[in-house]
Amino acid sequence: MTNAELIDRLIEETAQAPDWRSGWARPGHLPLFNNWGPVMYLTPVGDVVMNDEEDGPLRPAGPAERDFALARAAEQYPELAHLKPARPQLAATCDLCRGRGRVTISQGTLLPWPDGHEPRSPLYCPKCNSLGWIRMSLVPAVDST
Ligand SMILES: [Zn+2]
Repeated sequence: MTNAELIDRLIEETAQAPDWRSGWARPGHLPLFNNWGPVMYLTPVGDVVMNDEEDGPLRPAGPAERDFALARAAEQYPELAHLKPARPQLAATCDLCRGRGRVTISQGTLLPWPDGHEPRSPLYCPKCNSLGWIRMSLVPAVDST
């Protein structure tokens, strides 16, 4: 099954989903994440699109938004886990969330999501787009001409 067939099938399934997704189904768009109104979608060709306000026009996601959306896709749809950006060799573990991808707020400070107990809803890590790692910039290639 190709990604497009898989995503098409998931789009059909989400129309019947028991949660928020069924209310946000759009033909040809798989809902990935609902940010209290704005929604991120994956299209069958693999593009991430989103709107900035409820029912607003869809626009292509930026690179950071795309990372975030594909991490949510892997969580929401286990069949799409392979779309989550793979950690490249040149990456550093995020020091804000310590690689967890989630943080919590304590007395106004962002802290890594703690083990074991869940005191409140986690926040997604804004520093690494919840991937748990950050791409390190490549050394500029030497121009060989
Ligand atoms: Zn992080």
